[in-house]
Amino acid sequence: MRIVKKASTMQRLSLKLRAAGERIAFVPTMGALHEGHFSLVRYAHLCGSVVVVSIFVNPMQFGPREDLSRYPRQARRDYKLLRREKVDIVFAPARSEMYSPNFDTWVVPERISTILEGAHRPGHFRGVATVVLKLFNIVQPHVAIFGEKDLQQSVVIKQMVRDLNLPISIDIRPTIRDADGLALSSRNTYLSDAGRQRALVISQSLFAARTMIAEGERSAARIRSYVRRCLARDAEASVDYVSVADRRTLAELKRIEGDVAISVACRIEGVRLIDNVTMRVR
Ligand code: AMP
Repeated sequence: MRIVKKASTMQRLSLKLRAAGERIAFVPTMGALHEGHFSLVRYAHLCGSVVVVSIFVNPMQFGPREDLSRYPRQARRDYKLLRREKVDIVFAPARSEMYSPNFDTWVVPERISTILEGAHRPGHFRGVATVVLKLFNIVQPHVAIFGEKDLQQSVVIKQMVRDLNLPISIDIRPTIRDADGLALSSRNTYLSDAGRQRALVISQSLFAARTMIAEGERSAARIRSYVRRCLARDAEASVDYVSVADRRTLAELKRIEGDVAISVACRIEGVRLIDNVTMRVR
């Protein structure tokens, strides 16, 4: 496994690989890797002949009061695990390699940045879209793989790829969960044992809502208030949003039909957790 720190080296390497007929499959991450990330890496092996994983905690997608400085960084452990996953190249640039002091060009998603995560994290998707476009230009992938855990992020990236005519296919893979239902996340490491237990209310309320829909409920308002009531059982959980929306546009629904996503963002012990379930409703 080759570890590349410089953007110019990575780009040269990728262009050479492409010229030699290799197909590059790319998994962008912020490190502190878990089974969710590895599921994307395993899928990447099915999509390409060379698998590139990036590890970069992108400062531009964190707000001033967010967890940038304490975000878990475990490069050594991550490298070891990626070696085990037979990753070919890890791109792990320093901040200064990605952003010069006079950095001034941004990709700004518009409508999609005003709702859900965007409404609660101003500037977040500007940071995400900008870094992902930069990573795409550096890594030159044929295909890039993202997790449905960050559903709105995947919508933002697909939109950017369409809007800017990027010659890259985007694959979205299902959320990996612990056996008890908790969606894996690097941020789960912030939770105490008790907090982790309390966080189960999120997946449990989403699963219960999915069952209600499977059993015939079609009112989005009733599902929203049901999920809110479930979350309210934990008196200290503070809810940012509960959404019942079209899976592709994330526009809120009145009547539940088509491709549907139920999403939640909520704070437990001050840790901001997001989760969602998606389903096809006839
Ligand atoms: P992150 O390191 O949190 O920025 O995530 C890197 C990629 O892994 C993103 O595409 C995430 O959506 C994806 N990811 C994070 N958690 C999970 C999970 N539990 N299951 C599947 N994919 C995930």
